[in-house]
Amino acid sequence: MKRIGVLTSGGDNPGLNPCIRAVVRMGIHLGVEVMGIRRGYAGLIDGEMELMAARSVGGIIAQGGTILGTARCPEFYEVSGRKEALRTLNRFEIEGLVVIGGNGSLTGALELSRMEFPTVGVPSTIDNDVNGTDISIGVDTALDTILDAVDKIKDTATSHNRAFLVETMGRNSGYLALVSGIVGGAEMVLIPEVETPFEEIHELIESAYLRGKPHCIIIVAEGWKPGTEALAAQLREHQDDLGFSVRLTRLGYVQRGGSAEAFDRLLATRLGAAAVRALVDRQGGNMVGWVKNVVTLTPLEGAVAFQKALDHDLCELAEIMSI
Ligand code: ADP
Repeated sequence: MKRIGVLTSGGDNPGLNPCIRAVVRMGIHLGVEVMGIRRGYAGLIDGEMELMAARSVGGIIAQGGTILGTARCPEFYEVSGRKEALRTLNRFEIEGLVVIGGNGSLTGALELSRMEFPTVGVPSTIDNDVNGTDISIGVDTALDTILDAVDKIKDTATSHNRAFLVETMGRNSGYLALVSGIVGGAEMVLIPEVETPFEEIHELIESAYLRGKPHCIIIVAEGWKPGTEALAAQLREHQDDLGFSVRLTRLGYVQRGGSAEAFDRLLATRLGAAAVRALVDRQGGNMVGWVKNVVTLTPLEGAVAFQKALDHDLCELAEIMSI
């Protein structure tokens, strides 16, 4: 394999740049040219790319975001869009592709490999909803960002005797909310995977107040129904029996940005490097992952086939720790 391409696609997260850097430098190490493709699948279709060198990825290990840019590309859902992408890949004499992204981007990678183009996926999303890896790139740094915010909110909540609903990202996955609830010492966590009736939430806040807690922190995953806003409105109607007054903070996009911390830099470096090795070893059609502290290969088909199961031990732990 003489030349490969690398792109970042879908939602951004910390760790994309360390991963691009690893792909480029492992490519150089193995004697493979690496083309950096801009704006995900959109740039792949349009032929927006350039040859990367060791120096072109110098200094990016500490930078948030992605130097290649990322995008959502509706055309890639269609066979015609993917055929256009294949034509571009042939035109630029690219023989293999590394796709760094979340579930959607990895599904796109699967579709390309079904068209017999050697493609390897790297799981990179703060949602941690990709199968075939214990953790995706970006999750740990996002957790640090959330934790920092929760610690600060707790100071205010304690000073004013308030109940705070803190909304975290994660699409349909409750992982970020659950883990930040445990490490942030929340009183309750609301996640899409577990149905929690309003009465239970009301009762918990009231009981936290009666037990003498100075605050009540509830982490709410963005995918939880009926949603943080609706819950806040409902709770405010019951303000008098709750004890605490209720506030809402949506953490939003701060969770995606920033420089990746050590764990994510190492994970991104390991997985980016392994993706290039996999292509060179003719292992296209796979995703590289981190399972039980070892780099593994999982068929892309299995990685994106179903929603990653929630760790119920973590749910139990969150509940036990919140007494
Ligand atoms: P993420 O990778 O963060 O999950 P998206 O779900 O938005 O983000 O997917 C990113 C891009 O991947 C989409 O805009 C599209 O170009 C491509 N993609 C997603 N799902 C598919 C699919 N089923 N088939 C082909 N391409 C897809």
